[in-house]
Order: sequence, then structure tokens, then C-alpha cells
Amino acid sequence: MTRRYGTAINCMDGSVQGAVRKFMKRKYGLTHVDKITAKGPVRKLSQKVDREDLRHLYWMLEVTDMLKTSIENHGSRIVAIAAHHQCAGNPTTRKRQIKQLRRARRTVEKIIRSFRLNFEVKIILLWINDHCMPREISSLPTQYFAAIA
Ligand SMILES: [Zn+2]
Repeated sequence: MTRRYGTAINCMDGSVQGAVRKFMKRKYGLTHVDKITAKGPVRKLSQKVDREDLRHLYWMLEVTDMLKTSIENHGSRIVAIAAHHQCAGNPTTRKRQIKQLRRARRTVEKIIRSFRLNFEVKIILLWINDHCMPREISSLPTQYFAAIA
């Protein structure tokens, strides 16, 4: 069987790993999904990197390195960024997490641009609800996106 890799940047939370892997395999016909994890990664990816914050800086370097391997060595052409309901690593509202997801996309786009690839890599944003069901945020109803204070 030909290997088709994708990449998921997802929370370390064990309850959401399998759901994202299954979703991506099914929807995008993948055989393998590389995982890049952290506690609530969208929070980190949506924040500016403070050069004094070495933990954040190192994590960003690790993410960059893992993305590069996943894309250039494994041939991934799709990267999911996921956030989930009641994330212990990012204890904030769903609306704020969705806002963070959008900022995270810009960060990941910037990282991928730095690889100077001559092909496209698709980025999808996933919200994982209280039933552990991932959905692309482009398919969510509008009440998910109301302005936040
Ligand atoms: Zn989490």
C-alpha cells in the first residue's frame, strides 16, 4: 500500500489523538498521520514568540523541525491544527480557541513558507467538541465565531 502521510498539530490530551487521526485518514485518504503535540498547542502557536521565553522558543524550533520532516521526508501535503473542548493546557472559551486557531494558521503558514517548497501544503483547522468529534472550522455554524470581548 502506498503511504500517504498527513500531519496533525494537536493537544497532548490522549482523548483527542485517535479522533483526529481517524478523521484525517478518512477525509483525506491518508495512511499515516504524524503527530506534533503540546499542551494546548494553539495557544503557543497564536502567541508571539518572546525570545526570552526559551521553552516557547525551543518548542517552536521543534515544531518547525517536525513539520519539515513530515512534509519533506514523509511527503505530507496536509497539516491539521486542532483545538479541543475543555483543554487543560489551554483553559479558555471555545470562541477564544477558535480565534487562536486562526492565528495559529498564520504562524504555521509562515513556518511552511520558510521551507521554500515548490508545492502547496494545505492547512486545515479542527475543533474537537465535547463528544471528541473533530470538525473543520470552515463547516461550523456562525455562532462559533461571534466577536469575543
Ligand atoms: Zn488539551
